[in-house]
Amino acid sequence: MMQFQHRKMEMDSLTRLNQLHPLIRQPAIDAYNEAVKNTPIGVHPYITETYRSFAESDKLYAQGRTEPGEIVTNSKAGQSYHNYALALDFVLLVDGKESWNVDDNWMIVVKCFKDKGFTWGGDFAGSFKDYPHLENKLGYNWRQLLALYQVPSNFIAGTQFLKLNDQNTP
Ligand SMILES: [Zn+2]
Repeated sequence: MMQFQHRKMEMDSLTRLNQLHPLIRQPAIDAYNEAVKNTPIGVHPYITETYRSFAESDKLYAQGRTEPGEIVTNSKAGQSYHNYALALDFVLLVDGKESWNVDDNWMIVVKCFKDKGFTWGGDFAGSFKDYPHLENKLGYNWRQLLALYQVPSNFIAGTQFLKLNDQNTP
């Protein structure tokens, strides 16, 4: 039963990782597989979200402001790296239950992604920390990405992905 559940979680996770920008997709899949391998039996990393559309961001931003519920984000559409498929969120499944404890196992996952060039939301400067969040901005900031987003020819044809270069590799 547990094994079956983990297989399904892994398939969900990989489906989501495959929605990441092509430049960071394989490093993210490699990091995820490392994290699965390095976490103990009964603990399993689960990718909850990668790409988020502008419409989904608008909806999330409205929550707790103009719509019912609690405020869950400070990013409007276009201000989140999820909008450019450059970010992902994860949680740990511990004996099949979601756990957001930032413990040693959590940090195993974080380290696997950092080793592949990702920045962790727990390292964000200032008071706002986003512990489930990992991103690789490829050296861009959201204002630059949002500007690129306005021009249709900046997209890889037939996809929601911008044509980007890794600004961090010379
Ligand atoms: Zn996130």
